[in-house]
Amino acid sequence: MVDLHMHSNFSDGSDSPTQLVEKAKQLGLTAIALTDHDTIDGIPEFLEAGERLGIHTVPGVEISVDTKLPNNGHMHMLGLFIDPKGKKLKETLDYLRTQRNLRAEKIIRKLNELGVNITLEELLEEAGEGSIGRPHVAKILVRKGVVGSIQEAFDIYLAKGKPAYMDKVKLGEEDAIQMIHDAGGFAILAHPHLMNYPTFEEARERIMQLREIGLDGFEIYYSTMPEEYTRGLIELAKAEGFVVSGGSDYHGANKDNIEMGTGLGNLSVPDEIYWNLKEAHQRMRVAP
Ligand code: AMP
Ligand code: FE
Ligand code: FE
Ligand code: ZN
Repeated sequence: MVDLHMHSNFSDGSDSPTQLVEKAKQLGLTAIALTDHDTIDGIPEFLEAGERLGIHTVPGVEISVDTKLPNNGHMHMLGLFIDPKGKKLKETLDYLRTQRNLRAEKIIRKLNELGVNITLEELLEEAGEGSIGRPHVAKILVRKGVVGSIQEAFDIYLAKGKPAYMDKVKLGEEDAIQMIHDAGGFAILAHPHLMNYPTFEEARERIMQLREIGLDGFEIYYSTMPEEYTRGLIELAKAEGFVVSGGSDYHGANKDNIEMGTGLGNLSVPDEIYWNLKEAHQRMRVAP
């Protein structure tokens, strides 16, 4: 079994990259990918731990894409097998981080206006080396007793439409895909069902549009994916030559119903998914 979608404490997961590899080893996983939101800073530690413990590790990243989707849907693009030394990748992620920090300041200001006592310093400390996100804000609010749970922090203050919500600066589809390609990686649409199209047919059309601008593949294994999607996506991959991937989207204690490897309990990504991706990637690298 493999797990090619997970987060460390460099974004909104709770485990360090080393802990992720240790856990994968305990679970007997063959390969794992680190796909932190908008950052690759955890990758050196991740690869080092993989080397040391004898687990195949895939350097990755997960990018939020700015695009129009129905029913509050969202589009996340995974970069898998990226070269963390890619220059354009670094520059673009630095830009996103700066924008995230500015957004964090605005969220703090809004909360202060609402009478909530929280400072930017506290937030920076909570995020540590990681890229700052709303989950960090939520954690502080829980710790201070302002709300009873992370979910309540979102429901009352931080979710879209709530008083302390701030939009995030995101890359467009083409920029996200190009940045991943520039770093030598595969651009893989994460959890396609979460684009929230009412039918698979509409999702399929959208995926074919993404292919025009370079999409390499998509996830077909994801705990909450409806069967209609899994079936449709497998067929689409076969017909159109997409690469496929999948994983738990493990966040450690920050999403405690999701386990590494098995997700909500129903997930099992076979080893061949990893081997096929690796082989396709090697072929891509030798191609002119
Ligand atoms: P950010 O990147 O700062 O916008 O934070 C995004 C993260 O916040 C997601 O990965 C989720 O973990 C969490 N999140 C977003 N919306 C909600 C929500 N409505 N309820 C709970 N958690 C959420
Ligand atoms: Fe997340
Ligand atoms: Fe995602
Ligand atoms: Zn994710």
